[in-house]
Amino acid sequence: MSRSAHPAGPRHADVLPEGHYSAPPADLNVLDPKVWAQTVTRDGQGVATVGGIDVKTLAEQFGTPAYFLDEADFRARARAWRTAFGPDADVFYAGKAFLSRAVVRWLHEEGLNLDVCSGGELATALAAGMPAERIAFHGNNKSTEEITRAVESGVGRIVLDSFQEIVRVAHIASSLGRRQRVQIRVTVGVEAHTHEFIATAHEDQKFGIPLADGQAAEAVRRALQLDGLEVIGIHSHIGSQIFDMSGFEVAAHRVVGLLKDIRDEHGIELPEIDLGGGLGIAYTSDDDPREPHEIAKALNEIVSRECDAARLRTPRISVEPGRAIVGPTAFTLYEVGTIKPLDGLRTYVSVDGGMSDNIRTALYDAEYSVALVSRTSDAEPMLVRVVGKHCESGDIVVKDAFLPADLAPGDLIAVPATGAYCRSMASNYNHALRPPVVAVNEGEARVIVRRETEEDLLRLDVG
Ligand SMILES: *Cc1c(COP(=O)(O)O)cnc(C)c1O
Repeated sequence: MSRSAHPAGPRHADVLPEGHYSAPPADLNVLDPKVWAQTVTRDGQGVATVGGIDVKTLAEQFGTPAYFLDEADFRARARAWRTAFGPDADVFYAGKAFLSRAVVRWLHEEGLNLDVCSGGELATALAAGMPAERIAFHGNNKSTEEITRAVESGVGRIVLDSFQEIVRVAHIASSLGRRQRVQIRVTVGVEAHTHEFIATAHEDQKFGIPLADGQAAEAVRRALQLDGLEVIGIHSHIGSQIFDMSGFEVAAHRVVGLLKDIRDEHGIELPEIDLGGGLGIAYTSDDDPREPHEIAKALNEIVSRECDAARLRTPRISVEPGRAIVGPTAFTLYEVGTIKPLDGLRTYVSVDGGMSDNIRTALYDAEYSVALVSRTSDAEPMLVRVVGKHCESGDIVVKDAFLPADLAPGDLIAVPATGAYCRSMASNYNHALRPPVVAVNEGEARVIVRRETEEDLLRLDVG
Protein backbone atom coordinates (compact mmCIF):
# COMPACT_ATOMS: atom_id res chain seq x y z
CA MET A 1 0.00 0.00 0.00
CA SER A 2 1.25 3.45 -0.82
CA ARG A 3 2.08 5.58 2.19
CA SER A 4 2.57 8.78 0.31
CA ALA A 5 0.11 11.58 0.48
CA HIS A 6 -1.73 12.11 -2.76
CA PRO A 7 -2.03 15.68 -3.96
CA ALA A 8 -5.59 15.59 -5.26
CA GLY A 9 -8.39 13.41 -6.48
CA PRO A 10 -9.72 10.02 -5.41
CA ARG A 11 -7.30 7.24 -4.75
CA HIS A 12 -8.93 4.60 -6.89
CA ALA A 13 -6.46 1.90 -5.92
CA ASP A 14 -6.73 2.51 -2.22
CA VAL A 15 -10.16 1.08 -1.52
CA LEU A 16 -9.75 -1.60 1.09
CA PRO A 17 -10.84 -5.08 0.08
CA GLU A 18 -13.65 -6.58 2.12
CA GLY A 19 -12.23 -8.20 5.24
CA HIS A 20 -9.11 -6.06 5.40
CA TYR A 21 -10.36 -4.25 8.48
CA SER A 22 -11.54 -6.10 11.57
CA ALA A 23 -15.25 -6.66 12.05
CA PRO A 24 -17.03 -4.01 14.13
CA PRO A 25 -16.76 -4.61 17.88
CA ALA A 26 -19.79 -6.21 19.53
CA ASP A 27 -20.55 -3.02 21.43
CA LEU A 28 -19.27 0.33 20.18
CA ASN A 29 -19.95 1.92 23.58
CA VAL A 30 -17.36 -0.17 25.40
CA LEU A 31 -14.08 1.62 26.07
CA ASP A 32 -11.52 -1.21 25.98
CA PRO A 33 -9.24 -0.74 29.03
CA LYS A 34 -6.40 -2.10 26.94
CA VAL A 35 -6.28 1.01 24.73
CA TRP A 36 -7.69 3.68 27.07
CA ALA A 37 -5.92 5.31 30.01
CA GLN A 38 -6.47 3.66 33.38
CA THR A 39 -9.09 6.01 34.84
CA VAL A 40 -11.18 6.36 31.65
CA THR A 41 -14.74 5.12 32.05
CA ARG A 42 -18.31 6.25 31.25
CA ASP A 43 -20.48 8.05 33.79
CA GLY A 44 -24.17 7.39 34.48
CA GLN A 45 -25.18 9.46 31.44
CA GLY A 46 -22.80 7.56 29.18
CA VAL A 47 -20.29 10.40 28.87
CA ALA A 48 -16.69 9.29 29.01
CA THR A 49 -14.68 10.55 31.97
CA VAL A 50 -10.98 10.66 32.81
CA GLY A 51 -9.62 11.29 36.30
CA GLY A 52 -13.22 11.76 37.38
CA ILE A 53 -14.05 14.59 34.93
CA ASP A 54 -16.35 14.10 31.96
CA VAL A 55 -15.21 14.99 28.45
CA LYS A 56 -18.04 17.48 27.83
CA THR A 57 -16.87 19.53 30.80
CA LEU A 58 -13.27 19.19 29.63
CA ALA A 59 -14.17 20.29 26.10
CA GLU A 60 -16.04 23.33 27.42
CA GLN A 61 -13.19 24.30 29.68
CA PHE A 62 -10.21 23.61 27.42
CA GLY A 63 -11.62 23.47 23.90
CA THR A 64 -10.91 20.90 21.19
CA PRO A 65 -8.77 19.44 19.84
CA ALA A 66 -6.87 18.76 23.04
CA TYR A 67 -4.80 15.99 24.57
CA PHE A 68 -5.97 14.80 27.99
CA LEU A 69 -3.33 12.98 30.00
CA ASP A 70 -4.21 10.71 32.92
CA GLU A 71 -1.58 11.62 35.51
CA ALA A 72 -2.35 8.68 37.79
CA ASP A 73 -1.86 6.31 34.86
CA PHE A 74 1.42 7.97 33.86
CA ARG A 75 2.78 7.68 37.38
CA ALA A 76 1.56 4.08 37.70
CA ARG A 77 3.29 3.05 34.47
CA ALA A 78 6.51 4.86 35.39
CA ARG A 79 6.46 3.18 38.80
CA ALA A 80 5.72 -0.24 37.26
CA TRP A 81 8.84 0.04 35.09
CA ARG A 82 10.92 1.29 38.03
CA THR A 83 9.73 -1.54 40.28
CA ALA A 84 10.05 -4.22 37.61
CA PHE A 85 13.71 -3.42 36.95
CA GLY A 86 14.61 -2.87 40.61
CA PRO A 87 17.53 -1.05 42.21
CA ASP A 88 20.20 -2.77 40.13
CA ALA A 89 19.00 -1.31 36.84
CA ASP A 90 18.08 2.12 35.51
CA VAL A 91 14.96 3.17 33.64
CA PHE A 92 15.42 6.18 31.36
CA TYR A 93 12.19 7.67 30.06
CA ALA A 94 12.70 8.68 26.40
CA GLY A 95 11.76 12.35 26.50
CA LYS A 96 11.17 12.61 22.76
CA ALA A 97 7.90 10.66 23.19
CA PHE A 98 6.46 13.60 25.15
CA LEU A 99 8.30 16.06 27.34
CA SER A 100 7.13 18.89 29.54
CA ARG A 101 8.25 20.23 32.89
CA ALA A 102 5.36 18.57 34.72
CA VAL A 103 6.26 15.21 33.21
CA VAL A 104 9.91 15.66 34.21
CA ARG A 105 8.85 16.32 37.80
CA TRP A 106 6.65 13.19 37.87
CA LEU A 107 9.54 11.11 36.53
CA HIS A 108 11.89 12.56 39.12
CA GLU A 109 9.43 11.79 41.89
CA GLU A 110 8.90 8.24 40.64
CA GLY A 111 12.65 7.54 40.53
CA LEU A 112 13.18 7.40 36.77
CA ASN A 113 16.01 8.82 34.73
CA LEU A 114 15.59 10.75 31.49
CA ASP A 115 16.84 10.52 27.91
CA VAL A 116 17.14 13.72 25.91
CA CYS A 117 18.34 14.15 22.34
CA SER A 118 18.50 17.90 21.75
CA GLY A 119 19.41 21.14 23.44
CA GLY A 120 15.71 21.93 23.81
CA GLU A 121 14.95 18.65 25.56
CA LEU A 122 17.98 19.12 27.81
CA ALA A 123 16.84 22.65 28.70
CA THR A 124 13.36 21.37 29.59
CA ALA A 125 14.80 18.58 31.76
CA LEU A 126 17.11 20.93 33.62
CA ALA A 127 14.44 23.64 33.98
CA ALA A 128 12.20 21.13 35.73
CA GLY A 129 14.93 20.15 38.16
CA MET A 130 15.94 16.73 36.87
CA PRO A 131 19.39 16.15 38.39
CA ALA A 132 21.89 16.25 35.52
CA GLU A 133 23.51 12.98 36.57
CA ARG A 134 20.18 11.25 35.83
CA ILE A 135 20.09 12.56 32.25
CA ALA A 136 21.44 10.73 29.20
CA PHE A 137 22.17 12.70 26.05
CA HIS A 138 21.47 11.02 22.69
CA GLY A 139 21.52 11.94 19.01
CA ASN A 140 23.40 11.18 15.81
CA ASN A 141 24.43 14.78 15.17
CA LYS A 142 24.80 16.64 18.44
CA SER A 143 26.12 20.13 17.87
CA THR A 144 29.23 21.45 19.57
CA GLU A 145 26.99 23.79 21.57
CA GLU A 146 24.78 20.89 22.68
CA ILE A 147 27.75 18.76 23.70
CA THR A 148 29.32 21.66 25.59
CA ARG A 149 26.09 22.36 27.44
CA ALA A 150 25.62 18.67 28.27
CA VAL A 151 29.17 18.31 29.61
CA GLU A 152 29.02 21.60 31.52
CA SER A 153 25.74 20.74 33.16
CA GLY A 154 27.15 17.36 34.21
CA VAL A 155 24.86 14.90 32.41
CA GLY A 156 25.26 11.32 33.62
CA ARG A 157 26.10 10.01 30.21
CA ILE A 158 26.49 11.00 26.62
CA VAL A 159 25.74 8.24 24.14
CA LEU A 160 28.38 8.47 21.43
CA ASP A 161 27.03 7.83 17.97
CA SER A 162 29.97 8.15 15.55
CA PHE A 163 33.76 8.15 15.31
CA GLN A 164 33.76 11.91 14.91
CA GLU A 165 31.70 12.35 18.01
CA ILE A 166 34.11 10.28 20.09
CA VAL A 167 36.85 12.79 19.38
CA ARG A 168 34.55 15.80 19.62
CA VAL A 169 33.12 14.92 23.04
CA ALA A 170 36.58 13.95 24.35
CA HIS A 171 37.99 17.27 23.18
CA ILE A 172 35.18 19.35 24.68
CA ALA A 173 35.30 17.46 27.99
CA SER A 174 39.10 17.79 28.23
CA SER A 175 39.03 21.47 27.47
CA LEU A 176 36.46 21.92 30.26
CA GLY A 177 38.65 19.89 32.59
CA ARG A 178 36.07 17.11 32.76
CA ARG A 179 35.99 13.39 32.24
CA GLN A 180 32.61 12.63 30.64
CA ARG A 181 30.89 9.31 31.24
CA VAL A 182 29.91 7.86 27.86
CA GLN A 183 28.29 4.84 26.29
CA ILE A 184 28.95 3.84 22.71
CA ARG A 185 25.90 3.19 20.60
CA VAL A 186 26.30 0.21 18.36
CA THR A 187 24.06 -1.13 15.64
CA VAL A 188 23.85 -4.86 16.13
CA GLY A 189 22.17 -5.75 12.83
CA VAL A 190 18.75 -6.25 14.38
CA GLU A 191 15.73 -4.32 13.26
CA ALA A 192 12.56 -5.03 15.19
CA HIS A 193 9.00 -3.88 14.62
CA THR A 194 5.92 -5.27 16.28
CA HIS A 195 5.83 -9.00 15.54
CA GLU A 196 8.92 -9.49 13.42
CA PHE A 197 12.57 -8.71 13.57
CA ILE A 198 15.32 -9.00 11.02
CA ALA A 199 18.80 -10.04 12.06
CA THR A 200 21.56 -9.27 9.57
CA ALA A 201 25.26 -8.56 9.76
CA HIS A 202 24.79 -4.94 8.76
CA GLU A 203 22.13 -2.39 9.41
CA ASP A 204 21.51 0.34 6.88
CA GLN A 205 20.63 3.34 9.05
CA LYS A 206 22.03 6.58 10.41
CA PHE A 207 22.28 5.72 14.11
CA GLY A 208 25.19 4.14 15.93
CA ILE A 209 28.41 2.41 14.94
CA PRO A 210 28.09 -0.98 13.25
CA LEU A 211 29.22 -4.02 15.17
CA ALA A 212 30.04 -5.48 11.78
CA ASP A 213 33.63 -5.50 10.48
CA GLY A 214 35.04 -4.70 13.91
CA GLN A 215 33.91 -1.07 13.72
CA ALA A 216 32.36 -0.94 17.18
CA ALA A 217 35.45 -2.62 18.66
CA GLU A 218 37.58 0.05 16.98
CA ALA A 219 35.34 2.79 18.42
CA VAL A 220 35.82 1.37 21.92
CA ARG A 221 39.59 1.12 21.34
CA ARG A 222 39.75 4.81 20.39
CA ALA A 223 37.44 6.00 23.17
CA LEU A 224 39.43 4.14 25.84
CA GLN A 225 42.56 6.07 24.85
CA LEU A 226 41.03 9.52 25.36
CA ASP A 227 41.43 11.26 28.72
CA GLY A 228 38.21 13.21 28.35
CA LEU A 229 36.08 10.06 28.27
CA GLU A 230 35.12 7.42 30.80
CA VAL A 231 33.62 4.56 28.81
CA ILE A 232 30.92 3.01 30.98
CA GLY A 233 29.15 0.77 28.52
CA ILE A 234 27.55 -0.18 25.24
CA HIS A 235 24.17 0.99 23.98
CA SER A 236 21.77 -0.69 21.56
CA HIS A 237 18.29 0.37 20.47
CA ILE A 238 16.66 -1.93 17.94
CA GLY A 239 13.33 -0.47 16.89
CA SER A 240 9.89 0.62 17.99
CA GLN A 241 6.45 -0.76 18.84
CA ILE A 242 8.01 -4.20 19.51
CA PHE A 243 6.00 -7.02 21.10
CA ASP A 244 8.34 -9.90 20.40
CA MET A 245 11.38 -10.30 22.69
CA SER A 246 13.44 -12.34 20.23
CA GLY A 247 14.96 -9.20 18.66
CA PHE A 248 16.29 -8.18 22.10
CA GLU A 249 17.66 -11.68 22.51
CA VAL A 250 19.79 -11.42 19.37
CA ALA A 251 20.80 -7.85 20.27
CA ALA A 252 21.88 -8.84 23.79
CA HIS A 253 23.82 -11.80 22.42
CA ARG A 254 25.75 -9.52 20.07
CA VAL A 255 26.35 -6.76 22.64
CA VAL A 256 27.64 -9.27 25.19
CA GLY A 257 29.88 -10.67 22.44
CA LEU A 258 31.41 -7.21 22.13
CA LEU A 259 31.85 -6.91 25.93
CA LYS A 260 33.70 -10.22 25.82
CA ASP A 261 35.98 -9.04 23.00
CA ILE A 262 36.69 -5.84 24.98
CA ARG A 263 37.58 -7.91 28.06
CA ASP A 264 39.84 -10.17 26.01
CA GLU A 265 41.61 -7.26 24.30
CA HIS A 266 41.80 -4.62 27.03
CA GLY A 267 41.37 -6.63 30.22
CA ILE A 268 38.37 -4.54 31.32
CA GLU A 269 34.74 -5.45 31.81
CA LEU A 270 32.52 -2.51 30.96
CA PRO A 271 30.01 -2.11 33.81
CA GLU A 272 26.83 -1.18 31.90
CA ILE A 273 24.70 -2.07 28.92
CA ASP A 274 21.68 -0.19 27.66
CA LEU A 275 19.13 -2.14 25.64
CA GLY A 276 17.16 0.91 24.49
CA GLY A 277 13.41 1.26 24.27
CA GLY A 278 10.86 0.36 21.67
CA LEU A 279 8.39 -1.71 23.68
CA GLY A 280 4.96 -1.77 22.08
CA ILE A 281 1.58 -0.57 23.35
CA ALA A 282 -2.00 -1.32 22.35
CA TYR A 283 -3.28 1.16 19.78
CA THR A 284 -6.22 -1.10 18.97
CA SER A 285 -7.85 -4.02 20.76
CA ASP A 286 -5.88 -6.39 18.50
CA ASP A 287 -2.54 -5.44 20.10
CA ASP A 288 -1.22 -7.44 23.06
CA PRO A 289 1.64 -5.64 24.79
CA ARG A 290 3.71 -7.17 27.57
CA GLU A 291 3.77 -5.92 31.13
CA PRO A 292 6.96 -4.24 32.43
CA HIS A 293 7.63 -7.11 34.87
CA GLU A 294 7.55 -9.65 32.02
CA ILE A 295 9.89 -7.48 29.96
CA ALA A 296 12.28 -7.01 32.91
CA LYS A 297 12.31 -10.74 33.60
CA ALA A 298 12.96 -11.61 29.97
CA LEU A 299 15.73 -9.02 29.52
CA ASN A 300 17.46 -9.92 32.80
CA GLU A 301 17.39 -13.61 31.91
CA ILE A 302 18.75 -13.02 28.42
CA VAL A 303 21.61 -10.83 29.65
CA SER A 304 22.58 -13.11 32.58
CA ARG A 305 22.53 -16.17 30.36
CA GLU A 306 24.69 -14.53 27.71
CA CYS A 307 27.12 -13.18 30.33
CA ASP A 308 27.39 -16.55 32.11
CA ALA A 309 28.19 -18.19 28.80
CA ALA A 310 30.89 -15.55 28.14
CA ARG A 311 32.11 -15.72 31.78
CA LEU A 312 31.49 -12.02 32.28
CA ARG A 313 30.09 -10.31 35.35
CA THR A 314 26.53 -9.32 34.53
CA PRO A 315 26.59 -5.58 33.78
CA ARG A 316 24.09 -3.06 35.12
CA ILE A 317 21.21 -2.91 32.66
CA SER A 318 19.36 0.19 31.58
CA VAL A 319 16.28 0.51 29.38
CA GLU A 320 14.65 3.50 27.70
CA PRO A 321 10.89 3.16 27.35
CA GLY A 322 9.11 6.21 25.94
CA ARG A 323 5.93 5.09 24.22
CA ALA A 324 5.29 2.31 26.76
CA ILE A 325 5.06 4.84 29.59
CA VAL A 326 3.30 7.85 28.09
CA GLY A 327 1.56 6.42 25.01
CA PRO A 328 -1.46 4.80 26.68
CA THR A 329 -1.96 7.62 29.20
CA ALA A 330 -3.49 10.22 26.87
CA PHE A 331 -6.26 10.57 24.31
CA THR A 332 -7.02 13.31 21.81
CA LEU A 333 -10.48 14.82 22.06
CA TYR A 334 -12.00 16.17 18.84
CA GLU A 335 -15.31 17.68 17.86
CA VAL A 336 -16.98 16.17 14.81
CA GLY A 337 -17.42 18.69 12.00
CA THR A 338 -18.61 17.46 8.63
CA ILE A 339 -19.72 13.92 7.86
CA LYS A 340 -19.51 12.70 4.29
CA PRO A 341 -20.88 9.25 3.38
CA LEU A 342 -19.30 7.84 0.21
CA ASP A 343 -21.63 5.14 -1.06
CA GLY A 344 -20.13 1.69 -1.06
CA LEU A 345 -16.86 2.92 0.43
CA ARG A 346 -16.99 4.45 3.85
CA THR A 347 -18.01 7.60 5.68
CA TYR A 348 -15.49 10.40 6.07
CA VAL A 349 -15.71 12.04 9.48
CA SER A 350 -13.87 15.35 9.68
CA VAL A 351 -12.55 16.59 13.00
CA ASP A 352 -11.19 19.96 14.14
CA GLY A 353 -7.55 18.77 14.16
CA GLY A 354 -5.70 16.23 12.04
CA MET A 355 -2.17 15.60 10.83
CA SER A 356 -0.95 18.66 12.75
CA ASP A 357 -1.75 16.96 16.07
CA ASN A 358 -1.21 13.35 14.97
CA ILE A 359 1.20 12.81 12.09
CA ARG A 360 1.78 9.13 12.86
CA THR A 361 -0.98 7.80 10.61
CA ALA A 362 0.30 9.72 7.59
CA LEU A 363 3.95 9.12 8.47
CA TYR A 364 3.97 5.46 9.48
CA ASP A 365 0.61 4.10 8.42
CA ALA A 366 -0.04 3.85 12.16
CA GLU A 367 -3.27 2.30 13.37
CA TYR A 368 -5.54 3.94 15.89
CA SER A 369 -8.99 3.36 17.28
CA VAL A 370 -11.69 5.92 17.97
CA ALA A 371 -14.87 6.18 20.03
CA LEU A 372 -17.87 8.42 20.41
CA VAL A 373 -17.36 9.77 23.93
CA SER A 374 -19.93 12.55 24.52
CA ARG A 375 -22.76 10.00 24.63
CA THR A 376 -23.55 6.38 24.02
CA SER A 377 -25.48 5.17 21.01
CA ASP A 378 -27.43 2.08 20.02
CA ALA A 379 -27.19 2.85 16.30
CA GLU A 380 -25.63 0.39 13.86
CA PRO A 381 -21.86 0.57 13.35
CA MET A 382 -20.68 2.42 10.25
CA LEU A 383 -17.23 2.12 8.69
CA VAL A 384 -15.48 5.47 8.98
CA ARG A 385 -12.25 7.19 8.19
CA VAL A 386 -11.47 9.98 10.62
CA VAL A 387 -9.77 12.83 8.79
CA GLY A 388 -8.49 16.25 9.74
CA LYS A 389 -9.07 19.74 8.37
CA HIS A 390 -5.75 20.16 6.56
CA CYS A 391 -5.20 20.76 2.85
CA GLU A 392 -3.91 17.30 2.14
CA SER A 393 -5.83 14.14 1.27
CA GLY A 394 -3.29 12.14 3.32
CA ASP A 395 -4.53 14.03 6.40
CA ILE A 396 -5.91 10.92 8.08
CA VAL A 397 -6.14 10.37 11.82
CA VAL A 398 -7.78 6.94 11.91
CA LYS A 399 -7.73 4.98 8.69
CA ASP A 400 -10.48 2.46 9.34
CA ALA A 401 -12.74 2.27 12.35
CA PHE A 402 -16.38 1.94 13.29
CA LEU A 403 -18.54 4.63 14.83
CA PRO A 404 -22.29 4.63 15.39
CA ALA A 405 -24.31 5.52 12.29
CA ASP A 406 -26.16 8.32 14.12
CA LEU A 407 -22.93 10.27 14.58
CA ALA A 408 -23.64 13.98 14.16
CA PRO A 409 -21.73 17.25 13.90
CA GLY A 410 -20.96 18.52 17.40
CA ASP A 411 -20.44 15.03 18.86
CA LEU A 412 -17.16 14.53 20.67
CA ILE A 413 -14.98 11.65 19.56
CA ALA A 414 -11.67 10.61 21.07
CA VAL A 415 -8.64 8.76 19.79
CA PRO A 416 -6.89 6.79 22.56
CA ALA A 417 -3.18 6.03 22.99
CA THR A 418 -1.99 9.40 21.65
CA GLY A 419 0.35 10.18 24.56
CA ALA A 420 3.52 9.36 22.62
CA TYR A 421 4.81 11.02 19.45
CA CYS A 422 1.68 13.10 18.83
CA ARG A 423 2.12 16.40 20.71
CA SER A 424 5.90 15.97 20.41
CA MET A 425 5.61 15.70 16.61
CA ALA A 426 2.82 18.26 16.24
CA SER A 427 3.20 20.95 13.59
CA ASN A 428 1.69 24.27 12.65
CA TYR A 429 0.69 23.11 9.17
CA ASN A 430 -1.98 25.43 7.75
CA HIS A 431 -1.11 27.65 10.72
CA ALA A 432 -2.91 25.26 13.01
CA LEU A 433 -2.60 26.20 16.67
CA ARG A 434 -1.02 23.25 18.43
CA PRO A 435 -3.42 21.79 21.02
CA PRO A 436 -2.86 21.90 24.76
CA VAL A 437 -1.93 18.98 26.96
CA VAL A 438 -4.16 18.85 30.00
CA ALA A 439 -3.25 16.61 32.93
CA VAL A 440 -6.26 15.19 34.73
CA ASN A 441 -6.02 13.65 38.18
CA GLU A 442 -8.60 12.94 40.90
CA GLY A 443 -11.16 15.43 39.73
CA GLU A 444 -8.71 18.17 38.82
CA ALA A 445 -7.62 19.22 35.36
CA ARG A 446 -4.51 21.31 34.84
CA VAL A 447 -2.97 22.61 31.60
CA ILE A 448 0.66 21.45 31.43
CA VAL A 449 1.29 22.69 27.88
CA ARG A 450 -1.06 25.47 26.83
CA ARG A 451 -2.80 25.82 23.49
CA GLU A 452 -0.97 27.97 20.96
CA THR A 453 -2.57 31.26 20.07
CA GLU A 454 -2.54 33.39 16.95
CA GLU A 455 -0.24 35.74 18.87
CA ASP A 456 2.21 32.85 19.23
CA LEU A 457 2.19 32.40 15.45
CA LEU A 458 2.55 36.09 14.74
CA ARG A 459 5.32 36.51 17.31
CA LEU A 460 7.57 34.29 15.17
CA ASP A 461 6.54 36.07 11.98
CA VAL A 462 8.62 39.21 12.20
CA GLY A 463 6.89 40.86 9.26
C1 LIG B 1 13.15 6.59 20.43
C2 LIG B 1 14.13 5.99 21.34
C3 LIG B 1 13.71 5.38 22.52
C4 LIG B 1 12.27 5.25 22.90
O1 LIG B 1 11.54 4.49 22.02
P1 LIG B 1 10.02 4.06 22.39
O2 LIG B 1 9.55 3.34 21.19
O3 LIG B 1 9.27 5.32 22.64
O4 LIG B 1 10.11 3.23 23.62
C5 LIG B 1 14.67 4.87 23.37
N1 LIG B 1 15.99 4.97 23.08
C6 LIG B 1 16.43 5.56 21.96
C7 LIG B 1 17.87 5.66 21.71
C8 LIG B 1 15.53 6.08 21.06
O5 LIG B 1 15.97 6.67 19.94
